[in-house]
Amino acid sequence: MPETITRACGHTTEFTPKGDQYDEARREKCRRKRCPECGKAKNEADNAAQKENPQRAGSGRIKKGQEVKHLPVETVLMLWRKADGSWEGKLLTAEDPAVTADANGLMSVVQKLARAWLKSQGAKLQGKS
Ligand SMILES: [Zn+2]
Repeated sequence: MPETITRACGHTTEFTPKGDQYDEARREKCRRKRCPECGKAKNEADNAAQKENPQRAGSGRIKKGQEVKHLPVETVLMLWRKADGSWEGKLLTAEDPAVTADANGLMSVVQKLARAWLKSQGAKLQGKS
């Protein structure tokens, strides 16, 4: 028997329980999410906001791996290799707050610097930090 579930956006969806132990979890997931139309609208609004103001990252969501692309034009990084072979880096164009990071790999340190800068600008990052 299909049930009617109210989504996070206020719209309702039909939900058909499968009769196994995961029904309640699926119901809960359904309640927490927007309906497909509203999800799509939200996504488009986010993308538009991002296009308009790429530096500030709009309503905020930046995908993992895309951080570097959100650094401002003319960002200058300084990277130096440490005695143990790991890398340390600093964003020379960011002073307040200062942005520094260290990592074993060169690309990881660049990524970490970008994430740290974005966080200092109030961006919400997706995935683990
Ligand atoms: Zn909706």
